[in-house]
Amino acid sequence: MGATTIGLQGRCGLCHRQQQLRLSHFLPAALYRLVRKNDQARMEPVHVTSRRSFASSAEIRAPLLCSDCERRFHEHGENYVLKNCFRSDGHFPLRDILVRSGPPLTLPLASVYATSKLPEVHTEKLVYFASSVFWRGSIHRWKDGDRFLRNLPDLGRYQEIFRRYLLGEHPFPSKAVMLVNVSSREKPMMNFFTSPVGCRIGPCHRFTFSIPGLDFHLFVGQRIPGEFYHDCASHSPEQFVGFMDNDHLFVGPMLNLLRTSEPVGKLRSGK
Ligand SMILES: [Zn+2]
Repeated sequence: MGATTIGLQGRCGLCHRQQQLRLSHFLPAALYRLVRKNDQARMEPVHVTSRRSFASSAEIRAPLLCSDCERRFHEHGENYVLKNCFRSDGHFPLRDILVRSGPPLTLPLASVYATSKLPEVHTEKLVYFASSVFWRGSIHRWKDGDRFLRNLPDLGRYQEIFRRYLLGEHPFPSKAVMLVNVSSREKPMMNFFTSPVGCRIGPCHRFTFSIPGLDFHLFVGQRIPGEFYHDCASHSPEQFVGFMDNDHLFVGPMLNLLRTSEPVGKLRSGK
């Protein structure tokens, strides 16, 4: 996450040891570098909530984790995901691996790949990375400058079990489902990333965020519909990963949010 040591002693949010804390990023620093390499306008991260949306290149950080835990996040998810998502040079390694393996399976709700048969695809790292972002969103009141981000994920009673999962002390939580989608487009339109947002939907909570070419959806609760488990990247024996044009899936709801939320800053001025 490219964190900076700030020399502040405190309790690390992940391992709970008293340590020198780093200025930890909410969203990986490498993501900012990825989208900034693209010189088109509007390639800044977009933060969207039901109340407002804004683009901001400010890297959101807070003294949160020790250097051991920062390294853990890098090694268990972030490095792999950021090398394999849609890159600013036009390459999309993860999609290439899936497509080379043959056509996707067509399930009632989605087209998917069974990645358990594809050793080059480290689905557990996709799940770990996404979990670390949702968990970070849940444990801290993040601010961009003086603005608190709203509608951040709230893992509630599941926050602690996610902490233990991220520490390697517990399997992926049984009361959680992670859906991972890879864009079927060779060059996804969605070349930006969003901070995670969430809300209650029906019997469970749903949280979501996207990075270039990939989007992640986490459901937590006692009554997650069984068919979601079938498609879960972690719980399904096949380690299913969705393969679809998520520009439609994601940008549609995103545009709805943009319509209903108050754009501020650059989004308002259209610059
Ligand atoms: Zn730690």
